[in-house]
Amino acid sequence: MSQHHQLYQHFPQNPQSLFAQHALLPQGWMKNVRLQWDQAGNLTAVTPDTIAVSGETQATWVVPGMSNLHSHAFQRAMAGMTEIAGDSKDSFWTWRDLMYRYALHITPGQIQAIAAQLYAECLRHGYTGVCEFHYLHRDPAGAFYARPEEMAARVIAAAHQTGIGITMLPVLYSYADFGAQPLRDDQRRFSTGVDDILRLVNALESQRDWQTEIGVAPHSLRAASIAQIQEVLRVLPDRRPVHIHIAEQVREVDACLAATGKRPVELLADSGMLDQRWCLVHATHMNKDEVRAVAASGAVAGICTTTEGNLGDGFFDLPDYIEAGGCIGIGSDSHVSQSPVEELRWLEYGQRLRLQARNVASHQQQRRVGDFLWQAALQGGAQASGRKVGQLSSGYRADMLVLDATHPNLTGLHCDELLNTWIFSGNDNLVRHVYVGGRQVIVDGRHIQQASIQSAYADCMRELRSL
Ligand code: ZN
Repeated sequence: MSQHHQLYQHFPQNPQSLFAQHALLPQGWMKNVRLQWDQAGNLTAVTPDTIAVSGETQATWVVPGMSNLHSHAFQRAMAGMTEIAGDSKDSFWTWRDLMYRYALHITPGQIQAIAAQLYAECLRHGYTGVCEFHYLHRDPAGAFYARPEEMAARVIAAAHQTGIGITMLPVLYSYADFGAQPLRDDQRRFSTGVDDILRLVNALESQRDWQTEIGVAPHSLRAASIAQIQEVLRVLPDRRPVHIHIAEQVREVDACLAATGKRPVELLADSGMLDQRWCLVHATHMNKDEVRAVAASGAVAGICTTTEGNLGDGFFDLPDYIEAGGCIGIGSDSHVSQSPVEELRWLEYGQRLRLQARNVASHQQQRRVGDFLWQAALQGGAQASGRKVGQLSSGYRADMLVLDATHPNLTGLHCDELLNTWIFSGNDNLVRHVYVGGRQVIVDGRHIQQASIQSAYADCMRELRSL
Protein backbone atom coordinates (compact mmCIF):
# COMPACT_ATOMS: atom_id res chain seq x y z
CA MET A 1 0.00 0.00 0.00
CA SER A 2 1.41 3.38 -0.95
CA GLN A 3 1.84 6.19 1.53
CA HIS A 4 -0.77 8.88 1.41
CA HIS A 5 0.28 11.34 -1.26
CA GLN A 6 0.00 15.00 -0.38
CA LEU A 7 -3.50 14.80 1.00
CA TYR A 8 -2.73 16.81 4.06
CA GLN A 9 -0.52 19.48 2.62
CA HIS A 10 -3.07 22.08 3.64
CA PHE A 11 -3.63 20.72 7.15
CA PRO A 12 -1.71 22.27 10.01
CA GLN A 13 1.18 20.26 11.33
CA ASN A 14 -0.05 18.38 14.37
CA PRO A 15 1.74 16.88 17.32
CA GLN A 16 2.04 13.12 17.03
CA SER A 17 0.80 12.24 20.47
CA LEU A 18 -2.22 12.82 22.65
CA PHE A 19 -2.50 12.23 26.37
CA ALA A 20 -5.94 11.07 27.53
CA GLN A 21 -7.08 11.00 31.15
CA HIS A 22 -9.59 8.34 30.05
CA ALA A 23 -9.37 6.43 26.78
CA LEU A 24 -11.57 3.61 25.52
CA LEU A 25 -9.13 0.84 24.55
CA PRO A 26 -9.96 -2.71 23.40
CA GLN A 27 -9.59 -3.93 27.00
CA GLY A 28 -11.98 -1.21 28.26
CA TRP A 29 -11.57 2.23 29.80
CA MET A 30 -7.99 2.97 30.82
CA LYS A 31 -6.54 5.95 32.66
CA ASN A 32 -3.64 8.26 31.79
CA VAL A 33 -3.10 6.92 28.30
CA ARG A 34 -0.54 8.26 25.84
CA LEU A 35 -1.48 7.65 22.19
CA GLN A 36 1.38 8.04 19.70
CA TRP A 37 1.35 7.76 15.94
CA ASP A 38 3.68 7.98 12.97
CA GLN A 39 3.79 10.31 9.97
CA ALA A 40 1.39 8.05 8.05
CA GLY A 41 -1.20 8.39 10.83
CA ASN A 42 -0.93 4.86 12.24
CA LEU A 43 -0.79 4.37 16.01
CA THR A 44 2.67 3.21 17.10
CA ALA A 45 2.11 3.00 20.85
CA VAL A 46 -0.84 3.13 23.23
CA THR A 47 0.42 3.33 26.80
CA PRO A 48 -1.93 3.39 29.81
CA ASP A 49 -0.99 4.43 33.36
CA THR A 50 1.66 6.88 32.28
CA ILE A 51 2.34 10.55 33.09
CA ALA A 52 1.76 13.58 30.87
CA VAL A 53 4.81 15.60 29.91
CA SER A 54 4.70 19.36 29.78
CA GLY A 55 3.52 20.80 26.47
CA GLU A 56 1.75 17.57 25.50
CA THR A 57 -1.76 17.89 24.03
CA GLN A 58 -4.21 16.59 26.63
CA ALA A 59 -7.82 15.45 26.66
CA THR A 60 -10.23 14.09 29.26
CA TRP A 61 -12.35 11.64 27.24
CA VAL A 62 -11.04 9.87 24.11
CA VAL A 63 -12.94 7.20 22.18
CA PRO A 64 -12.24 5.58 18.79
CA GLY A 65 -13.94 7.25 15.81
CA MET A 66 -16.87 5.44 14.19
CA SER A 67 -17.05 3.99 10.66
CA ASN A 68 -20.15 4.98 8.71
CA LEU A 69 -20.68 1.80 6.70
CA HIS A 70 -23.31 2.99 4.26
CA SER A 71 -23.56 6.30 2.41
CA HIS A 72 -25.01 7.63 -0.83
CA ALA A 73 -23.41 11.06 -0.57
CA PHE A 74 -25.57 12.82 -3.18
CA GLN A 75 -28.74 12.05 -1.19
CA ARG A 76 -27.59 14.55 1.45
CA ALA A 77 -28.85 17.23 -0.94
CA MET A 78 -32.44 15.95 -0.76
CA ALA A 79 -32.67 15.24 2.98
CA GLY A 80 -35.86 16.83 4.28
CA MET A 81 -37.34 17.31 0.81
CA THR A 82 -39.51 14.20 0.57
CA GLU A 83 -41.59 14.55 3.73
CA ILE A 84 -44.86 15.56 2.04
CA ALA A 85 -47.76 13.12 1.79
CA GLY A 86 -48.84 12.29 -1.76
CA ASP A 87 -52.25 11.22 -3.06
CA SER A 88 -51.34 7.55 -2.90
CA LYS A 89 -50.08 5.75 0.21
CA ASP A 90 -46.57 7.19 0.29
CA SER A 91 -43.95 4.48 0.18
CA PHE A 92 -40.30 3.70 -0.39
CA TRP A 93 -41.00 3.40 -4.09
CA THR A 94 -42.45 6.92 -4.48
CA TRP A 95 -39.44 8.27 -2.54
CA ARG A 96 -37.19 6.41 -4.95
CA ASP A 97 -38.86 8.04 -7.96
CA LEU A 98 -38.09 11.49 -6.55
CA MET A 99 -34.54 10.47 -5.70
CA TYR A 100 -34.04 9.36 -9.33
CA ARG A 101 -35.27 12.71 -10.70
CA TYR A 102 -32.75 14.46 -8.47
CA ALA A 103 -29.95 12.04 -9.32
CA LEU A 104 -30.36 12.72 -13.02
CA HIS A 105 -29.07 16.28 -12.69
CA ILE A 106 -26.04 16.15 -10.40
CA THR A 107 -22.73 17.13 -12.01
CA PRO A 108 -19.21 16.04 -10.97
CA GLY A 109 -18.60 19.43 -9.34
CA GLN A 110 -21.88 19.24 -7.46
CA ILE A 111 -21.32 15.74 -6.13
CA GLN A 112 -17.93 16.81 -4.79
CA ALA A 113 -19.46 19.85 -3.05
CA ILE A 114 -22.29 17.77 -1.56
CA ALA A 115 -19.96 14.98 -0.42
CA ALA A 116 -17.55 17.47 1.19
CA GLN A 117 -20.40 19.09 3.15
CA LEU A 118 -21.71 15.68 4.21
CA TYR A 119 -18.32 14.33 5.25
CA ALA A 120 -17.52 17.45 7.28
CA GLU A 121 -20.86 16.96 9.08
CA CYS A 122 -20.14 13.27 9.63
CA LEU A 123 -16.74 14.15 11.09
CA ARG A 124 -18.27 16.75 13.40
CA HIS A 125 -20.58 14.09 14.83
CA GLY A 126 -17.96 11.37 15.29
CA TYR A 127 -17.71 9.39 12.07
CA THR A 128 -14.06 9.15 11.00
CA GLY A 129 -14.57 6.85 8.00
CA VAL A 130 -17.27 6.29 5.41
CA CYS A 131 -18.18 3.48 3.01
CA GLU A 132 -19.53 5.12 -0.12
CA PHE A 133 -22.02 2.95 -2.04
CA HIS A 134 -21.57 4.83 -5.28
CA TYR A 135 -23.85 4.31 -8.27
CA LEU A 136 -23.92 7.67 -10.09
CA HIS A 137 -21.42 6.52 -12.70
CA ARG A 138 -22.55 7.93 -16.04
CA ASP A 139 -23.35 11.45 -17.21
CA PRO A 140 -26.98 12.66 -17.27
CA ALA A 141 -27.41 11.48 -20.86
CA GLY A 142 -26.29 7.97 -19.91
CA ALA A 143 -22.79 7.98 -21.45
CA PHE A 144 -19.59 7.35 -19.52
CA TYR A 145 -17.50 10.42 -18.81
CA ALA A 146 -14.18 10.74 -20.66
CA ARG A 147 -12.68 9.44 -17.43
CA PRO A 148 -15.20 6.65 -16.53
CA GLU A 149 -14.37 6.94 -12.83
CA GLU A 150 -15.01 10.72 -12.85
CA MET A 151 -17.90 10.75 -10.35
CA ALA A 152 -16.28 8.24 -7.97
CA ALA A 153 -13.01 10.17 -8.11
CA ARG A 154 -14.88 13.38 -7.15
CA VAL A 155 -16.36 11.67 -4.10
CA ILE A 156 -12.91 10.41 -3.08
CA ALA A 157 -11.55 13.94 -3.60
CA ALA A 158 -14.23 15.23 -1.21
CA ALA A 159 -13.17 12.65 1.38
CA HIS A 160 -9.55 13.71 1.05
CA GLN A 161 -10.53 17.38 1.21
CA THR A 162 -12.31 16.84 4.54
CA GLY A 163 -9.87 14.26 5.92
CA ILE A 164 -12.43 11.45 6.45
CA GLY A 165 -11.29 7.92 5.59
CA ILE A 166 -13.15 6.36 2.67
CA THR A 167 -13.98 2.94 1.27
CA MET A 168 -15.20 3.54 -2.28
CA LEU A 169 -17.60 0.87 -3.49
CA PRO A 170 -18.46 1.25 -7.19
CA VAL A 171 -21.93 -0.24 -7.63
CA LEU A 172 -22.78 -2.98 -10.11
CA TYR A 173 -26.22 -2.03 -11.42
CA SER A 174 -27.47 -3.97 -14.45
CA TYR A 175 -31.19 -4.65 -14.04
CA ALA A 176 -34.37 -2.94 -12.91
CA ASP A 177 -35.74 -6.00 -11.09
CA PHE A 178 -35.52 -9.74 -10.55
CA GLY A 179 -35.54 -11.80 -13.74
CA ALA A 180 -32.97 -9.50 -15.45
CA GLN A 181 -35.54 -6.80 -16.23
CA PRO A 182 -33.96 -4.07 -18.41
CA LEU A 183 -33.14 -0.80 -16.64
CA ARG A 184 -35.64 2.05 -16.83
CA ASP A 185 -34.65 5.21 -18.65
CA ASP A 186 -34.32 7.11 -15.36
CA GLN A 187 -31.76 4.52 -14.17
CA ARG A 188 -29.40 5.28 -17.08
CA ARG A 189 -26.72 6.96 -14.96
CA PHE A 190 -26.34 3.80 -12.83
CA SER A 191 -26.02 1.34 -15.72
CA THR A 192 -23.00 -0.96 -15.37
CA GLY A 193 -22.12 -4.51 -16.32
CA VAL A 194 -19.39 -6.74 -14.90
CA ASP A 195 -16.74 -5.37 -17.28
CA ASP A 196 -17.65 -1.77 -16.43
CA ILE A 197 -17.27 -2.42 -12.71
CA LEU A 198 -13.94 -4.17 -13.10
CA ARG A 199 -12.76 -1.26 -15.25
CA LEU A 200 -13.87 1.23 -12.57
CA VAL A 201 -12.18 -0.72 -9.78
CA ASN A 202 -9.03 -0.89 -11.88
CA ALA A 203 -9.09 2.83 -12.62
CA LEU A 204 -9.48 3.62 -8.90
CA GLU A 205 -6.71 1.27 -7.71
CA SER A 206 -4.07 4.00 -7.84
CA GLN A 207 -6.10 5.96 -5.23
CA ARG A 208 -5.59 3.30 -2.56
CA ASP A 209 -3.60 4.57 0.41
CA TRP A 210 -3.85 4.69 4.21
CA GLN A 211 -7.03 6.74 3.97
CA THR A 212 -8.63 5.07 0.95
CA GLU A 213 -9.79 1.54 0.19
CA ILE A 214 -11.54 0.29 -2.94
CA GLY A 215 -14.14 -2.49 -2.83
CA VAL A 216 -17.25 -3.26 -4.81
CA ALA A 217 -21.03 -3.24 -4.32
CA PRO A 218 -23.54 -5.27 -6.27
CA HIS A 219 -26.52 -2.92 -5.81
CA SER A 220 -29.00 -5.63 -4.79
CA LEU A 221 -30.16 -9.01 -6.05
CA ARG A 222 -32.77 -7.01 -8.00
CA ALA A 223 -30.06 -5.13 -9.92
CA ALA A 224 -27.30 -7.77 -10.16
CA SER A 225 -27.48 -11.53 -10.66
CA ILE A 226 -25.70 -14.15 -8.55
CA ALA A 227 -23.72 -15.17 -11.66
CA GLN A 228 -22.54 -11.58 -12.22
CA ILE A 229 -21.49 -11.22 -8.59
CA GLN A 230 -19.54 -14.48 -8.78
CA GLU A 231 -17.78 -13.18 -11.89
CA VAL A 232 -16.78 -9.93 -10.17
CA LEU A 233 -15.51 -11.74 -7.08
CA ARG A 234 -13.37 -14.07 -9.17
CA VAL A 235 -11.35 -11.06 -10.33
CA LEU A 236 -11.54 -8.75 -7.29
CA PRO A 237 -8.35 -8.82 -5.17
CA ASP A 238 -8.65 -10.79 -1.90
CA ARG A 239 -10.15 -9.26 1.21
CA ARG A 240 -11.75 -6.28 -0.53
CA PRO A 241 -15.09 -5.24 0.99
CA VAL A 242 -18.26 -6.36 -0.82
CA HIS A 243 -21.48 -4.55 0.11
CA ILE A 244 -25.05 -5.16 -1.07
CA HIS A 245 -28.59 -3.92 -0.33
CA ILE A 246 -30.23 -7.18 0.59
CA ALA A 247 -33.78 -7.20 2.00
CA GLU A 248 -35.00 -3.67 2.59
CA GLN A 249 -38.64 -4.00 1.61
CA VAL A 250 -41.25 -6.77 1.92
CA ARG A 251 -42.10 -6.22 -1.74
CA GLU A 252 -38.47 -7.01 -2.60
CA VAL A 253 -38.59 -10.27 -0.62
CA ASP A 254 -41.85 -11.29 -2.33
CA ALA A 255 -40.47 -10.48 -5.79
CA CYS A 256 -37.33 -12.52 -5.06
CA LEU A 257 -39.43 -15.48 -3.90
CA ALA A 258 -41.58 -15.25 -7.02
CA ALA A 259 -38.58 -15.08 -9.35
CA THR A 260 -36.21 -17.56 -7.69
CA GLY A 261 -38.18 -19.53 -5.10
CA LYS A 262 -35.90 -18.12 -2.38
CA ARG A 263 -35.78 -15.08 -0.16
CA PRO A 264 -32.91 -12.62 -0.88
CA VAL A 265 -30.72 -13.45 2.13
CA GLU A 266 -31.41 -17.16 1.60
CA LEU A 267 -30.46 -16.87 -2.08
CA LEU A 268 -27.19 -15.10 -1.27
CA ALA A 269 -26.32 -17.44 1.60
CA ASP A 270 -27.03 -20.52 -0.56
CA SER A 271 -24.65 -19.19 -3.24
CA GLY A 272 -21.78 -19.95 -0.85
CA MET A 273 -20.22 -16.50 -1.31
CA LEU A 274 -21.01 -14.98 2.10
CA ASP A 275 -18.04 -14.42 4.36
CA GLN A 276 -16.34 -11.68 6.40
CA ARG A 277 -15.79 -9.47 3.35
CA TRP A 278 -19.52 -8.93 3.04
CA CYS A 279 -21.71 -6.19 4.42
CA LEU A 280 -25.45 -6.85 4.09
CA VAL A 281 -27.11 -3.46 4.13
CA HIS A 282 -30.76 -3.44 5.22
CA ALA A 283 -30.92 -7.11 6.24
CA THR A 284 -34.27 -5.97 7.56
CA HIS A 285 -36.51 -8.81 6.45
CA MET A 286 -34.91 -12.10 7.51
CA ASN A 287 -36.50 -15.25 8.88
CA LYS A 288 -34.82 -17.15 11.72
CA ASP A 289 -32.80 -19.37 9.37
CA GLU A 290 -31.50 -16.34 7.51
CA VAL A 291 -30.56 -14.62 10.78
CA ARG A 292 -28.50 -17.66 11.76
CA ALA A 293 -26.91 -17.97 8.30
CA VAL A 294 -25.75 -14.35 8.21
CA ALA A 295 -24.44 -14.47 11.78
CA ALA A 296 -22.55 -17.71 11.10
CA SER A 297 -21.00 -16.35 7.89
CA GLY A 298 -19.14 -13.58 9.72
CA ALA A 299 -20.65 -10.95 7.39
CA VAL A 300 -21.68 -7.59 8.86
CA ALA A 301 -25.33 -6.54 8.95
CA GLY A 302 -25.36 -2.87 7.95
CA ILE A 303 -28.18 -1.19 9.86
CA CYS A 304 -29.23 2.33 8.84
CA THR A 305 -31.85 3.06 11.46
CA THR A 306 -32.74 6.66 10.64
CA THR A 307 -33.08 5.98 6.91
CA GLU A 308 -34.94 2.71 7.51
CA GLY A 309 -37.28 4.64 9.79
CA ASN A 310 -37.63 7.49 7.30
CA LEU A 311 -38.49 5.09 4.48
CA GLY A 312 -40.76 2.86 6.56
CA ASP A 313 -38.69 -0.26 5.88
CA GLY A 314 -39.33 -2.20 9.08
CA PHE A 315 -37.32 -3.43 12.07
CA PHE A 316 -34.11 -5.43 12.05
CA ASP A 317 -34.35 -8.56 14.24
CA LEU A 318 -31.67 -7.39 16.66
CA PRO A 319 -32.19 -9.75 19.65
CA ASP A 320 -32.10 -12.94 17.57
CA TYR A 321 -29.12 -11.69 15.60
CA ILE A 322 -27.19 -10.81 18.78
CA GLU A 323 -28.13 -14.21 20.23
CA ALA A 324 -26.68 -15.86 17.11
CA GLY A 325 -23.42 -13.90 17.54
CA GLY A 326 -23.85 -11.70 14.46
CA CYS A 327 -21.81 -8.56 13.65
CA ILE A 328 -23.52 -5.20 13.18
CA GLY A 329 -22.49 -1.79 11.99
CA ILE A 330 -24.31 1.47 11.28
CA GLY A 331 -24.65 3.76 8.28
CA SER A 332 -26.30 7.10 7.64
CA ASP A 333 -27.36 5.98 4.13
CA SER A 334 -29.69 8.76 2.88
CA HIS A 335 -28.32 11.22 5.47
CA VAL A 336 -31.51 12.27 7.18
CA SER A 337 -29.11 12.15 10.16
CA GLN A 338 -25.34 12.53 10.20
CA SER A 339 -24.90 11.40 13.80
CA PRO A 340 -23.80 7.95 15.00
CA VAL A 341 -25.42 8.77 18.35
CA GLU A 342 -28.83 9.20 16.75
CA GLU A 343 -28.33 6.07 14.64
CA LEU A 344 -27.51 3.93 17.68
CA ARG A 345 -30.13 5.47 19.94
CA TRP A 346 -32.89 4.79 17.42
CA LEU A 347 -31.61 1.31 16.78
CA GLU A 348 -32.28 0.59 20.46
CA TYR A 349 -35.49 2.63 20.69
CA GLY A 350 -36.96 0.90 17.63
CA GLN A 351 -36.44 -2.44 19.36
CA ARG A 352 -37.95 -1.18 22.63
CA LEU A 353 -41.03 0.10 20.78
CA ARG A 354 -41.35 -3.09 18.79
CA LEU A 355 -40.88 -5.48 21.70
CA GLN A 356 -42.23 -3.36 24.57
CA ALA A 357 -39.01 -4.07 26.42
CA ARG A 358 -35.92 -2.16 27.59
CA ASN A 359 -32.16 -2.60 27.20
CA VAL A 360 -32.37 -4.88 24.17
CA ALA A 361 -28.89 -4.31 22.71
CA SER A 362 -26.88 -6.12 25.37
CA HIS A 363 -25.64 -9.57 26.33
CA GLN A 364 -24.29 -11.37 29.38
CA GLN A 365 -20.78 -9.91 28.99
CA GLN A 366 -21.95 -6.37 28.25
CA ARG A 367 -25.12 -5.19 29.94
CA ARG A 368 -24.55 -1.49 29.30
CA VAL A 369 -26.53 -0.74 26.16
CA GLY A 370 -24.49 2.29 25.06
CA ASP A 371 -21.23 0.36 25.46
CA PHE A 372 -22.60 -2.66 23.64
CA LEU A 373 -23.85 -0.54 20.73
CA TRP A 374 -20.76 1.65 20.33
CA GLN A 375 -18.31 -1.28 20.54
CA ALA A 376 -20.34 -3.53 18.24
CA ALA A 377 -20.76 -0.79 15.62
CA LEU A 378 -17.06 0.10 15.87
CA GLN A 379 -16.02 -3.48 15.15
CA GLY A 380 -18.60 -4.14 12.45
CA GLY A 381 -17.99 -0.79 10.78
CA ALA A 382 -14.24 -1.38 10.74
CA GLN A 383 -14.69 -4.83 9.24
CA ALA A 384 -17.05 -3.49 6.57
CA SER A 385 -14.61 -0.69 5.68
CA GLY A 386 -11.71 -3.09 5.04
CA ARG A 387 -9.41 -0.59 6.77
CA LYS A 388 -7.31 -0.81 9.95
CA VAL A 389 -9.67 1.26 12.06
CA GLY A 390 -12.09 0.88 14.97
CA GLN A 391 -9.73 0.45 17.90
CA LEU A 392 -7.04 2.42 19.65
CA SER A 393 -4.21 -0.11 19.28
CA SER A 394 -0.77 -0.04 17.78
CA GLY A 395 -0.98 -0.61 14.00
CA TYR A 396 -4.45 0.90 13.67
CA ARG A 397 -5.31 4.34 12.31
CA ALA A 398 -5.14 7.19 14.83
CA ASP A 399 -8.87 7.95 14.43
CA MET A 400 -10.02 9.48 17.72
CA LEU A 401 -12.80 11.58 19.16
CA VAL A 402 -12.28 13.93 22.08
CA LEU A 403 -15.58 14.49 23.87
CA ASP A 404 -16.55 17.74 25.53
CA ALA A 405 -15.57 17.29 29.19
CA THR A 406 -17.02 20.72 30.03
CA HIS A 407 -20.56 19.76 28.95
CA PRO A 408 -22.92 19.35 31.94
CA ASN A 409 -23.82 15.81 30.85
CA LEU A 410 -20.23 14.67 31.13
CA THR A 411 -18.92 16.55 34.15
CA GLY A 412 -18.02 14.37 37.12
CA LEU A 413 -18.95 11.23 35.25
CA HIS A 414 -17.49 7.79 35.96
CA CYS A 415 -16.03 6.32 32.76
CA ASP A 416 -18.41 3.33 32.88
CA GLU A 417 -21.31 5.77 32.42
CA LEU A 418 -19.81 7.74 29.55
CA LEU A 419 -21.18 5.93 26.50
CA ASN A 420 -24.66 5.46 27.98
CA THR A 421 -24.80 9.12 28.94
CA TRP A 422 -23.50 10.29 25.57
CA ILE A 423 -25.96 8.18 23.58
CA PHE A 424 -29.05 8.44 25.77
CA SER A 425 -29.05 11.87 27.36
CA GLY A 426 -29.81 14.48 24.75
CA ASN A 427 -29.04 16.09 21.43
CA ASP A 428 -26.14 18.45 22.04
CA ASN A 429 -23.18 17.34 19.96
CA LEU A 430 -20.58 16.30 22.55
CA VAL A 431 -17.82 15.68 19.98
CA ARG A 432 -15.31 18.50 20.47
CA HIS A 433 -12.18 17.50 18.57
CA VAL A 434 -11.68 14.83 15.92
CA TYR A 435 -8.45 13.28 14.71
CA VAL A 436 -8.32 11.14 11.59
CA GLY A 437 -5.05 9.38 10.83
CA GLY A 438 -3.55 11.57 13.56
CA ARG A 439 -4.57 14.84 11.86
CA GLN A 440 -6.96 17.06 13.74
CA VAL A 441 -9.77 17.97 11.34
CA ILE A 442 -12.42 19.10 13.84
CA VAL A 443 -11.37 21.79 16.31
CA ASP A 444 -13.87 22.90 18.97
CA GLY A 445 -16.74 21.38 17.02
CA ARG A 446 -15.89 22.99 13.68
CA HIS A 447 -14.26 21.52 10.61
CA ILE A 448 -11.01 23.28 9.81
CA GLN A 449 -12.33 24.14 6.33
CA GLN A 450 -15.96 24.57 7.35
CA ALA A 451 -16.47 28.02 5.81
CA SER A 452 -15.24 27.13 2.31
CA ILE A 453 -16.99 23.74 2.31
CA GLN A 454 -20.31 25.33 3.34
CA SER A 455 -20.01 28.07 0.78
CA ALA A 456 -19.41 25.57 -2.07
CA TYR A 457 -22.38 23.52 -0.83
CA ALA A 458 -24.62 26.59 -0.70
CA ASP A 459 -23.72 27.44 -4.32
CA CYS A 460 -24.48 23.87 -5.35
CA MET A 461 -27.84 23.84 -3.56
CA ARG A 462 -28.89 27.13 -5.14
CA GLU A 463 -28.28 25.46 -8.52
CA LEU A 464 -30.11 22.25 -7.62
CA ARG A 465 -33.09 23.94 -5.97
CA SER A 466 -33.64 26.13 -9.01
CA LEU A 467 -34.07 23.09 -11.28
ZN1 ZN B 1 -28.43 2.41 0.37
